[in-house]
Amino acid sequence: MTAWSEETDSVYGAWRVQLRMSRVLFQEKSGHQDIVLFENPLYGRVLVLDGIVQTTERDEFFYHEMLVHVPLLTHGAVRRALIVGGGDGGALEELLKHAAVERVTMVEIDRSVVEFSKTHLKAICGDAFEDPRLELVIADGVQWVKDCAERFDLILIDSTDPVTSGEVLYTPAFYAACAAILDEGGLLVTQNAVPFTEPESLGAPLAALGASFAATACYRVAVPSFYGGDMVFVLAGQTSESLGVADRELEARFAAAGLDTRYYTPAIHRGAFALPPYIAEMIG
Ligand code: SAM
Repeated sequence: MTAWSEETDSVYGAWRVQLRMSRVLFQEKSGHQDIVLFENPLYGRVLVLDGIVQTTERDEFFYHEMLVHVPLLTHGAVRRALIVGGGDGGALEELLKHAAVERVTMVEIDRSVVEFSKTHLKAICGDAFEDPRLELVIADGVQWVKDCAERFDLILIDSTDPVTSGEVLYTPAFYAACAAILDEGGLLVTQNAVPFTEPESLGAPLAALGASFAATACYRVAVPSFYGGDMVFVLAGQTSESLGVADRELEARFAAAGLDTRYYTPAIHRGAFALPPYIAEMIG
């Protein structure tokens, strides 16, 4: 009997997507969420949290390269970075490809996600969790950021969707606490919604960010395993200049970083900020 993992539309109840589970590798109800890891003929290993696809072996690079390299090459001098969430290690692995990054703190609420990712999702996290530049903290990101005395050049919020345990990571209070621990010129990037299927989910985080960051800019990527087309990231800083980089300078930074990417290029970076009108209208 073939087993299927099903993700359903929590907004309109209009769709459901089923992925074949050729083999279930890990299943647990942790203290924070329902975790399922299975193999699929097309996507390879797939991580599902609370019924929502988080990442897959075959398309993770779409999401992780755009989450990491866009803000990092925009900033140009990131030494200390903070990841909130990101337990699968995909964002961490991309971040650590940048030799100039001296220290990464990852604050993940669920130890189970990290432990089984180290074992079963090597294709996504590689040996990133063994890197001496990493400080791994198992804690609620909201409390940890509130109590934090350190300063960072870059904050990556690689959380679950605003409809699950990650909801607390989309609030004005959390963004204000993040703004307070960013050094001058520091940037924050957060995964946001899939506008076509969750049009209501775009505005609120943007308004919440706008309360603590003088400048925000949305960019997009279509991740095959995220149903509904383009998903949106939001880049935030305290000046609009800090959100941009000249073409030639971007090319030079990309070349100097010596990255071997499968999705990200400077041209893709540029194009990702060109939003189709249906998204631009939602942002207002
Ligand atoms: N790429 C995925 C996506 O776009 O949906 C996100 C992947 S990552 C696995 C999300 C992580 O956020 C999970 O491991 C989850 O445990 C973590 N998380 C959720 N709420 C959190 C919180 N309050 N503090 C820290 N981590 C949190």
